[in-house]
Amino acid sequence: MVQIAIAGGGPVGLVLARLLARRGITVCLIARAEPVGGFRPIALSQPSFALCESLVPIDPATATAIETVHVSQRHAPGRTRMNGAEHGLASLGQVIELADLSAQLAAGIEACAPELQRCTGSVTGWQASHASIRIEWESPEGSQNPITARLLVLADGGRSSPGQQDEADNAGRSGIRAAARRTAASERDFAQSAIVCAVRSEHGQPGVAWERFTADGPIALLPHGDRHALVWTLPHEKAARIAQADDATFVETLGDAFGSDLGRFSEPGMRQSQVIRSRRAPAGGERVLRIGNAAQTLHPVAGQGLNLGLRDALVLALQAGADRAADPGSSTFIRRYERVRHFDRGVTVGLTDMLALAFRFGGAGSNGLPGTLRGLALDVLDQCPPARRFLARRMMLGARAIP
Ligand SMILES: Cc1cc2nc3c(=O)[nH]c(=O)nc-3n(C[C@H](O)[C@H](O)[C@H](O)COP(=O)(O)OP(=O)(O)OC[C@H]3O[C@@H](n4cnc5c(N)ncnc54)[C@H](O)[C@@H]3O)c2cc1C
Repeated sequence: MVQIAIAGGGPVGLVLARLLARRGITVCLIARAEPVGGFRPIALSQPSFALCESLVPIDPATATAIETVHVSQRHAPGRTRMNGAEHGLASLGQVIELADLSAQLAAGIEACAPELQRCTGSVTGWQASHASIRIEWESPEGSQNPITARLLVLADGGRSSPGQQDEADNAGRSGIRAAARRTAASERDFAQSAIVCAVRSEHGQPGVAWERFTADGPIALLPHGDRHALVWTLPHEKAARIAQADDATFVETLGDAFGSDLGRFSEPGMRQSQVIRSRRAPAGGERVLRIGNAAQTLHPVAGQGLNLGLRDALVLALQAGADRAADPGSSTFIRRYERVRHFDRGVTVGLTDMLALAFRFGGAGSNGLPGTLRGLALDVLDQCPPARRFLARRMMLGARAIP
């Protein structure tokens, strides 16, 4: 019997496991052995990065500081710049690859014993009872070993939820899917995919992140070593076509879409295309809590998904650590967590959806009213340091920064 079992060894599950173990709470982390697939650059806000650094030393060679964020529209007026110095910070955050972050968070987890046990495998189902929850999980060799806990935290990235199963989940793990089907999740399909890859530019400056809104969707160019990490959101068909183009066509198309501020693009890395959805599920169930992407998946336009998930993990660990004798699977505990997280989750998901939709309809590329209005809003923001500070604080700290 452990107090808390965690399903999922992504960054959110790993951070939660380490935070709980540090507070003397017995934890079992059930994590698959699979490596993180593909290139996924993550812009971590300064507080999120500091949280990870407080748990493990992060190799500076794997992270690139964001000192300035430049936001503008293609073919329409208006721009704003935010920088860390305005907030007394050396940087607004850091860009790090998801695989690098996860590997560093996972390293040395054995040293967290005896509080933290690690099981390699997949959670396949669970059965809650009055005082505990029995969790079924399966090792890569196919052996099945139940674990009993007070609370099961799903930090599985939402893969076990309807419509989001990966191939492994589809291979007959009915227990977890049946439970997930009972969860009323709300989902928004943006009819967009994101192309993600590394790319070089002629005039890129270190530490500057660019967010440019185009008629097709936003283009984010994050500083990543001596290159950029590109996250380019487009309608599905266009994304598939552009992602498959040869390198020369790809960089030319990117240059046309982005504009000339960074000069010519070159040396694109391997492209990946990923369908964009926003999804929100109820956090709590019977002796079950969902956190991170298992609770909500966000459009990448504002780079907030993991930042929000890390705040889920931090709040849960603080609540469990505040009263270690309390039953973390009790409905009182679960309701309190839901209440505390409700505002930040709602506001962050809502504002991210709004941003993605506001810059999609009306066409930032047109010179019509919507584009002009949006440009005006960006200019007002640029001229108004308190408004800029408000926005930057909310991006870094979440809804805690309101007012
Ligand atoms: C293109 C793109 C760009 C993004 N950019 C940013 C950004 O700049 N900033 C930001 O904050 N966020 C960003 N995000 C969001 C970010 O990637 C996610 O929020 C984050 O990876 C979620 O972490 P997680 O640990 O909750 O889930 P995941 O990273 O999905 O990890 C879940 C883990 O659970 C495991 N698992 C699944 N099912 C089971 C099971 N049954 N049993 C055991 N284990 C299981 C999986 O193998 C995986 O290891 C971006 C997302 C996309 C798509």
